[in-house]
Amino acid sequence: MNKSRTTTDKGVPSNSRVLTLLAQLEKLNAESVVLDVENARHITSKILHIIQTQEKTRKEVMTKGSNGMEVILSTLENCRDLQTTLNILYILNELVSVGGGRRVGVLVSKGGTPILLQLLLSASRDSPPSEELMVQLHSILAKVGPKDKKFGIKARINGALNITLNLLKQNLQNNKLLLPCLQVLRVYSSNSVNAVSLGKNGVVELMFKIIGPFSKKNTNLLKVTLDTLSALLKSKTNARRAVDRGYVPSLLSIYQDWHKQDNRHRHMLIRKGILGCIKNITNIKLGRKALIDADGMRILYSTSTECLPVRTLDPLINTSSLVMRKCFPKNRLPVPTIKSVFHFHLPVIPASGPVAQLYSLPPEVDDVVDESDDNDDTEADTENDTENEDEEKDQNLQNDDIETDISKLCPKQEIGRPLEELKMYERFFPELSENFQEYKFAFEEISANTTVLEPKLPGTIVVPTAGDEPAIDLSSTKKETKLTTEEQTKPQSLNTQAGESVKAAAPVDLESIVISKHDKHSPDANKLLISQCLKHDLVKEMDRLSIDGESASNNLKCCNSTGINGQRYKGALNSTTCNKGCQNFSGTSGSSAEHLSAPPCSPRGEPDNEDDCSSHSSGEQGVLEVPDTAALLPLHDPELYIETVKTTKSVPQYAEVAYPDYFGHIAPTFKEHILERVYGVQRTKIFQDIERLIHSNDIIDKVVYDLDLPSCPVIEDGESLKFNSQFESGNLRKAIQVRKFEYDLVLNSDINSNHYHQWFYFEVSGMRSGVPYRFNIINCEKSNSQFNYGMQVLMYSVQEALIGRPQWIRTGTDICYYKNHFSRSSIAAGGQKGKSYYTMTFTVTFHHRDDVCYFAYHYPYTYSTLKMHLQKLESMCTPQIYYHQDVLCDTLGGNSCPVLTITAMPDSKHIEQIFQFRNRPYIFLTARVHPGETNASWVMKGTLEFLMSSSPVAQSLRESYIFKIVPMLNPDGVINGNHRCSLSGEDLNRQWQNPSPDLHPTIYHTKSLLQYLAAVQRTPLVYCDYHGHSRKKNVFMYGCSIKETVWQTNVSATSSELHEDLGYRTLPKILSQIAPAFCMSSCSFVVEKSKESTARVVVWREIGVQKSYTMESTLCGCDQGKYKSLQIGTKELEEMGAKFCVGLLRLKRLTSPLEYRNPSHFLDVETDLIESSCKVTSPTTYVLDDDEPPFLEEVDYSAESNEENDAELNENTVDFDPYVPEDSDSETTRRDLLN
Ligand SMILES: [Zn+2]
Repeated sequence: MNKSRTTTDKGVPSNSRVLTLLAQLEKLNAESVVLDVENARHITSKILHIIQTQEKTRKEVMTKGSNGMEVILSTLENCRDLQTTLNILYILNELVSVGGGRRVGVLVSKGGTPILLQLLLSASRDSPPSEELMVQLHSILAKVGPKDKKFGIKARINGALNITLNLLKQNLQNNKLLLPCLQVLRVYSSNSVNAVSLGKNGVVELMFKIIGPFSKKNTNLLKVTLDTLSALLKSKTNARRAVDRGYVPSLLSIYQDWHKQDNRHRHMLIRKGILGCIKNITNIKLGRKALIDADGMRILYSTSTECLPVRTLDPLINTSSLVMRKCFPKNRLPVPTIKSVFHFHLPVIPASGPVAQLYSLPPEVDDVVDESDDNDDTEADTENDTENEDEEKDQNLQNDDIETDISKLCPKQEIGRPLEELKMYERFFPELSENFQEYKFAFEEISANTTVLEPKLPGTIVVPTAGDEPAIDLSSTKKETKLTTEEQTKPQSLNTQAGESVKAAAPVDLESIVISKHDKHSPDANKLLISQCLKHDLVKEMDRLSIDGESASNNLKCCNSTGINGQRYKGALNSTTCNKGCQNFSGTSGSSAEHLSAPPCSPRGEPDNEDDCSSHSSGEQGVLEVPDTAALLPLHDPELYIETVKTTKSVPQYAEVAYPDYFGHIAPTFKEHILERVYGVQRTKIFQDIERLIHSNDIIDKVVYDLDLPSCPVIEDGESLKFNSQFESGNLRKAIQVRKFEYDLVLNSDINSNHYHQWFYFEVSGMRSGVPYRFNIINCEKSNSQFNYGMQVLMYSVQEALIGRPQWIRTGTDICYYKNHFSRSSIAAGGQKGKSYYTMTFTVTFHHRDDVCYFAYHYPYTYSTLKMHLQKLESMCTPQIYYHQDVLCDTLGGNSCPVLTITAMPDSKHIEQIFQFRNRPYIFLTARVHPGETNASWVMKGTLEFLMSSSPVAQSLRESYIFKIVPMLNPDGVINGNHRCSLSGEDLNRQWQNPSPDLHPTIYHTKSLLQYLAAVQRTPLVYCDYHGHSRKKNVFMYGCSIKETVWQTNVSATSSELHEDLGYRTLPKILSQIAPAFCMSSCSFVVEKSKESTARVVVWREIGVQKSYTMESTLCGCDQGKYKSLQIGTKELEEMGAKFCVGLLRLKRLTSPLEYRNPSHFLDVETDLIESSCKVTSPTTYVLDDDEPPFLEEVDYSAESNEENDAELNENTVDFDPYVPEDSDSETTRRDLLN
């Protein structure tokens, strides 16, 4: 029989020996209630033998369609004979020993777990239980457990926990039994209820008995024990028990022993296991205290430092650093209050909301810390508290946030206010009543003399193009310049060290010449520019500082600036110019840098300086030349800037002007790549932070800047940097020197608020060159930042500006953003307790000694800059352009909020012309409601310049539309260095539903303008609000669509009935084709509840603008298109603003029935929608918050900082998932078990 069967081995499985035997076994099962013992033993032992000797037969049993496993399990269930049972257990062990988890999976799916657990229960009743049976049974259970998601509950219900535990207790010396039992215990313990229950029965103590003192014997057992203990210690009661028994010092000393003895790092997993236990114990406050008391910080720090050179030990370093960060004593932020240093007295104090709370807080309340900082120890055990659940919570919030109420979704389009009430806004729309009877048309005038006039004659603003292509206007205007060819070509050949920047600068310069020629408003400036450009090589000028009498008049002298500024502006600007003047600049850039030794920027300029400089500057020597930005930046004029600043009202009453705003910024032409994150940067920084605690004597802790003090300290000892941010848009509250070259910086909250800081802009001086300085902004609030993904800070060097490079450049190395040890009061964290702040750290090596440098979150764009730009724009207005600038209203801070109207003048007074003029569709644009989003202003600048430009596209755009623009919705916020709010302490982009004329005047009146337009049946075609996005790359839009919102919910039935015009997708789609920074797939058209009071949603819903958008520009850079892997700059942002306009023109062509009959071929809406419906449902693109989408990029940030996400779990050989949600014995789970 044997022979005959062996020949068929290779052949048909149905004839195989093992299957025949199984069939016999099955028959046996069926025939009698009580098994034929002898026969059963015989058959099972035969099966075992075959399975042991022929791997192939195992496959036969396990193949799909075979009922082998059922037969085996049912035999196991029915048989009462030890030998047969053992045989079957051997068989099962053999079957699942190979083939990975799949075979175990089959065992589980065939109902193996309860049968095995039942067997365990009955076997335990024998006294003593069969050791061999227990070994075999536990070996299988150890494999089955991780594959059965309900294993923990099943084991508990079957009473298996204590059977295994007692077995362990009674067999501590029995290594054969110990290992499988521990393996099973490890699986039990991954269930939190089990862990508590086992803890009560002394399992923690038992584990420590097994771990014992250091020994390299039986390391496998030790590893499993440590894993089990680690799982058990996730329970707070167990952790507390471990602390009470004094196990923290034991664990530390065992860890040290292993660290010392394990020279070849063969036992990394054991070392990691010990750290895992420590990590879990220190989740409770008592555990953290015990670790610190046991000198654990120093131990972990020194062992980790020793591990640093060995890359394979990274898991140890990472876990140690997690533990150290957790245990690092929480500090209070070094400020007396988290409320803004500056307070603004509101005309009306709101009855409720954040500001009301702030006002009602008793003065004696310490808002910097609260009792809640360590919140964990008293809480119940079963809850899963980890410190970093923000992301999860966000995820949940997201889905709640989608608007599902269709009636709310459907645009209301009721103005809500009678026309009579809105009549007062009529004056902002002179274009609607203008009849031009008084007006002398350019054409009428000129056509007398000249036959043809080029429509683009005087407008010479360069269309912003961020690419390499030449400026659009250049070719057309060149011929108008009086420059000789020689002079035109010179600049190109003269790029010495300034390199690329010079190259790019040259053509723009030509533009500016033309402008000045036509600038009738300032004839003097004309002359200067022309003469200068003709007489000098501008390039040379920019390249180095020269003392040149002929050009002196065009340059800023000390006396000159003093005269302009008067007493009020004697601060930064004066002292610097004075010093420079007095220092007697030499011609070369190198030495000039050396000369700038005197403090150029003492916050309060001394009057005697003024005397000094006026005497010097009157002479031939000592003239300071500022970079001739006017020639390169047609919209920039330093003197005009100063004049503008004089009328700008800030709450702190700033009297200084920051150099970058004064000089202007010329975008560099070199590429600024998104930084690649260097491995281990965060770890290194965190270790340096931990060193503060361990070597506290090395810490200087010297306050070098402090706005909370009545007089901010000015340190002049040469040992510290000097800080300043008391100028428009500045934001720095405090600077503390912690080490010789390291500073902690604290940002000020938004005025009348106690948080919202993120924007920064400050000045640093008194530096050494060639030394890396580390700066830490220690009170950041967001849980993640683009600084973790390659974004750099911006720096502006005055020295560089003076040698021809007046520009903000991306700078900084070792940049990262991580949670720190400064506790955040629940008052400022929306009631959430136990939160921490985040540190944004960067390192900078200054090139020049004693430079004055500025750092900013993003390219600054002040309110005064806007006013200056608007004034310049107005002065460049040509007869073709209808340009109107009004004051919409005054802000709370007493600043005017400009509103612009731009369109084309009618060609003539003819009635048809006037009619066409008045009936152009409106485009309504707003920007900068969030002060920290300066990129929005740069995009707006691009839009405005394009609209005012002479290009034919701009002209036809003006002929097509009337543009109504509020370029800065939140001037006060911008001026005072806020990040998000206005002076009312509120986010203005959450006030659109019910703006208060007293508290939110700019929103109230902007909304009124829109309401007026709707009331006179002139609802805008497009509304767009420009924003900046701190956590995403590229430029993209949010729009409003009922259908796409409904798709996000399960209300699919109703969605099919909805009919919605897909036109809201057209503009974004166009932009994705023409604007390189724009990315369609990042766009979203979902309406969220949390956004119901934003401009976009209100303008869509209440005003009835279907194409109502928020346009978000990245603060970081692009990850697609032409600018992929580059950080974004002002050129790219301005280009975006220009392309937006071009897009509007294309929109007109596409939607005009005359020009295109069917635009759908372009839109390909179907594909788009299908694409997007997939995308929006996928978590990778679905974004809800305009400014804070969920963090989705896969970088090592979470691995480095998140407690629970570290990699240890993946190391287990079986895929053992301790996070199986099975923490309750609810009815449903019970029912599941019974099935
Ligand atoms: Zn925003």
